[in-house]
Amino acid sequence: MRDYKNIKNYVFGRGAVNDLQSILDGIRSKDQPTVIFLVDDFFKNKEAVKKLRIEKDDVLIFVSSKHEPKSEYIDSLTAEIKQKAEPEKIIAVIGMGGGTVMDIAKCVSIMLTNQGKAEDYQGWDLVKHPGIYKIGIPTVSGTGAESSRTGIFTSPKAKLGMNSNYSMFDQLIMDPDFLETVPKDQFFYTAMDCYIHNIELLHGLKTNLTAKSFAEQSLKLMREVFLNEMDFEKLMLASYLGGLGMATANAAGHICHPVSYGLGTVLGLRHGMAVTLAFNQLGEYYPEETKEFNLILKKYAIELPKKVTRNAPERQFDEMAEATLKNEKPLENAFGEDWKSVFTKEKVKEILKKI
Ligand code: ZN
Repeated sequence: MRDYKNIKNYVFGRGAVNDLQSILDGIRSKDQPTVIFLVDDFFKNKEAVKKLRIEKDDVLIFVSSKHEPKSEYIDSLTAEIKQKAEPEKIIAVIGMGGGTVMDIAKCVSIMLTNQGKAEDYQGWDLVKHPGIYKIGIPTVSGTGAESSRTGIFTSPKAKLGMNSNYSMFDQLIMDPDFLETVPKDQFFYTAMDCYIHNIELLHGLKTNLTAKSFAEQSLKLMREVFLNEMDFEKLMLASYLGGLGMATANAAGHICHPVSYGLGTVLGLRHGMAVTLAFNQLGEYYPEETKEFNLILKKYAIELPKKVTRNAPERQFDEMAEATLKNEKPLENAFGEDWKSVFTKEKVKEILKKI
């Protein structure tokens, strides 16, 4: 039986970020005064950074979230921190931003206390030592990275997370006021990621009662948000619960996320966009949900980009399909042990060509 971990502490509500100072006061000490702030470079020169009240021993690094995290980027940030601060003096690592920054902060915290390179820890339960105390301040909602057990990134080996109890945040500060700052498109596609995670989780053959309960409640909130009225608090909570659903699932992921991965790694599409475009072509597997999804698109007047794979050469379709089929755990969760005979490379390419 697995020993599940939850987020130990969290503050939730508008203005929650104002509690950061007292949280840090409670953990800083004379011997360990240093806090590392990894902040999405979207916030460069913005008022929000002032709310963090960075002190003299702290290190502030603006992190690029233009691309999804790569293993070399995590290694180079870790090296930069070791240059700017004495590792034994660091009391906490804070990640502030969207899912990409959440993932980077989780992984950097681990790499500060574990030997080697980030890619050595891609996979399940490979991390040996707890990372440095991690605080997440999500500013975009939907990926669930703030509460999931995975810090996902791409290495030359694969797009695969560090998946370990040590890669969960110790503390979250969830302040829905940040969602006001997110551009509309990014807002929509990231929220859609949450909606789709839950649907995938609920369809899985290996789902369990805990994960299912988190996913059901998260999906309920997402439906209220998408089909009734936008409510930032509900959206932020839905993302958090969705992440906990993934953290307690036996196998997170189903068909849609694997299909989306090649679109990300080969064509460079952002995660939320890739997942949404993949979902749009998976009506065969999610008939009721794709109908509802079309209502949501209409309501938000979202025009999905059409035929994004149109100009891809055959070689890239092969690469994308291979990226999909590497996800053995999710695909087995979707189709059962015999998944390879049902969900063939040809079938995957057929779907990809419609996207
Ligand atoms: Zn996702």
